[in-house]
Amino acid sequence: MKAAPIELGSWSHWHADERPLRLGVSQCLLGDEVRYDGGHARDRYVTDVLGRWFELVPVCPEVEAGLGTPRATLRLVDEGAGTRLVQPATGADLTDVLAEWSARRIEALRALDLDGFVLKRGSPSCGLERIKVYRAGMPAGRNESGVFARALRERWPALPVEEEGRLNDAGLRERFVERAFCRNRWRTLVARGLSRRALIEFHGAHKLLLLAHDEAGYRRLGRLVGSAGQLPDEELFGAYEAEFQAAMSKNATRKRHVNVMQHALGHLKRLLDPAEKQEVLTCIEDYHAGLLPLIVPLTVLRYLVRRHGVEYLQGQLYFDPHPKELMLRNHA
Ligand code: SF4
Repeated sequence: MKAAPIELGSWSHWHADERPLRLGVSQCLLGDEVRYDGGHARDRYVTDVLGRWFELVPVCPEVEAGLGTPRATLRLVDEGAGTRLVQPATGADLTDVLAEWSARRIEALRALDLDGFVLKRGSPSCGLERIKVYRAGMPAGRNESGVFARALRERWPALPVEEEGRLNDAGLRERFVERAFCRNRWRTLVARGLSRRALIEFHGAHKLLLLAHDEAGYRRLGRLVGSAGQLPDEELFGAYEAEFQAAMSKNATRKRHVNVMQHALGHLKRLLDPAEKQEVLTCIEDYHAGLLPLIVPLTVLRYLVRRHGVEYLQGQLYFDPHPKELMLRNHA
C-alpha cells in the first residue's frame, strides 16, 4: 500500500504564504504608547513569540475613535439605564461613539480575515471579561466585557479571542493558538476555492485533533462529511465550518488527550513488542498523572508512527498542529 504523504499531518503543509497567519492585537500590547497616560503595555509573548509566526494588526479603539493620547480615563457605569462607557472627568458618555466605531472597524477587520484577536485585559474598551461596572462612584459588583470586546464577540463569534493575561496559562495558550492555526488552515482552503475533496482531506487530517477537543462534535462532523452527497456545496461547507469552530473551542482536557493517545496506540498495537507498548502506556499514564507534559508521550508516539509507517496516523495533524518553536505542548 502506498504510504500517505507525511506532510498531510504537518502544520506546514496547510499554511500558505498567500494567506499569512494574522492576529488582531490591542495596540498597547505591541509597545505603542496609546494608553490613557501616554504609556504602553508591551507584552513580550505577543510581540516576540506570536509576532514571529503571525502578522499582527494593531487596533486601539479609544485612539482610533478619536479620544487622543493622553486622555482622561474611562469606566463602565450603570446608573439604571444599562451599562454605559463614560469618562468621569468630563462626564462624557462615549458608549455610542465606541459602539459605532467598533461596528465599522470590525467590518474592516473582517476584510483582513483575521485568525484570532489578543485583547488587553482590564480595559473598559478592550477587556474580555471581569471589567468592573460602577454605580454612584463605587464598584457595583458586576463584571462585564469592554465595549469593543463585546462587539467583537457579538459580531464575529467564530473568531478565536483571548486576553494577554490568560495566555500565561499553558492550556488556554495552547487552545487559542491551536484554534488560530486551525482557522487559518480552513480559511486557506476557502480562499483557494473549497471543494468536496478538499473538505474530506481537511476533515481526515483533523480527526484526532477534533477528538481531543469534543468527541460529540467529532462524531457530528463525521456524519456531516459522510452524508455530504445529500447537501448543496454552500450548505455543506457552511455547516462544516460552524460545527468545526464550535468543536475546536471546547477544551482539550488531559483526560481527552489520554483517550486520543490510547486510540492512536490501538492503531500501533500489532506493530509493537510488549516492552515498547508498555513503555508508551507508562508515558501516557505519567502524563495523565501530571508527571510529564503532553509533548513527551506525543513525541514517543510520533516516532513510532513514523518508524512503522502507519498511514492513518501519519496524516493526523494532532501530532504536529503548529510550529514546535512555539513550545505549546511543553507545559500543557
Ligand atoms: S487597552 Fe485598548 S483602548 Fe486601551 S490603550 Fe490598549 S488598545 Fe487602546
